[in-house]
Amino acid sequence: MVRKIVFESYLCIDHKESPGFTPEQAHKVGLGIVADQVGKGKKFETAMLICSHCPAQVIKRPERVRARGHCYKCDQFLCDNCAIKYKIDGICYTWKRRQEDYLETVSFRGGLF
Ligand SMILES: [Zn+2]
Ligand SMILES: [Zn+2]
Repeated sequence: MVRKIVFESYLCIDHKESPGFTPEQAHKVGLGIVADQVGKGKKFETAMLICSHCPAQVIKRPERVRARGHCYKCDQFLCDNCAIKYKIDGICYTWKRRQEDYLETVSFRGGLF
């Protein structure tokens, strides 16, 4: 049996004892879709999907009908921006690999070894 590992993170915004976000503040910090759940006296908890190709973490909306982005090469979730790029060029360049490439370049240039 093959088990697929899904990378998710957890987000908790607890405003039970605070004034919470106004709808305008929620939109400003990227929580516009859950603006009604992060106000005064509310506690919002959700799973977040982690994009394989960039550092984006996306709130998992159960009511979403449109297919989520997926890379068939690394077999992981892609955010909408990376899904469009992947659809166009078909290149799998994971965030982990990108970080490793960057560190290799920096350490080589900086003469750390
Ligand atoms: Zn992405
Ligand atoms: Zn990929």
